Amino acid sequence: MPRIGIGYDIHRLEPGRPLVLGGIEVPHASGLAGHSDGDALVHAVIDALLGALGEGDIGTLFPDTDPRFEGARSLGLLETVMGRLRSRGGTVVNVDTVIVAEEPKMGPYIPAMKAALGPALGLPEAAVGIKAKTNEGLGPVGEKRAIACYAVALVDLPD
Ligand code: MG
Repeated sequence: MPRIGIGYDIHRLEPGRPLVLGGIEVPHASGLAGHSDGDALVHAVIDALLGALGEGDIGTLFPDTDPRFEGARSLGLLETVMGRLRSRGGTVVNVDTVIVAEEPKMGPYIPAMKAALGPALGLPEAAVGIKAKTNEGLGPVGEKRAIACYAVALVDLPD
C-alpha cells in the first residue's frame, strides 16, 4: 500500500552555531538552534515518514526533554525511524522537500545534502528532491531569524 506523509519544521537561527541542514554542515555565520543539531530539513523528513507510517511525530519519538537527544545528530534520528519503517516491511519510494531560507544560498550544497539523505533513506539521489527558496523578505524567515523546511514522503507498506 502506498502511504503519503507530510512534514514541516522551523528553527531559529543563532549566531555562532554550525548550520546543519540536510545532514551536512553549510558554511554560514549562524546556525539552527535546537535540542538536537537543529537540522530542520531532516526533522521535516522524519515527520513526513512518521506521518506515512501513522506513528505520530518526532516530538513523541525523541522528546526534547530527554537528555539522550541533546546535541543528537538528526541523521541518527532518521536512521532510527528508518529502522522502524523497515521493521514493518516498508520502503521509501521518494521524498520531496523545500528549504525556505533567506540566506545562505543553498544551491551549491544541495548535491551534498542529496548524497547524505539518499543512503539514509535507502534511495537513489534522483528520488530525493531538495528545492530551496527565499521568503521574499517576509516574516521571521525573510528577516533571517529562522529557516523553515517542508517535506513529503511516499512510503510503500505491506498491508
Ligand atoms: Mg525540529
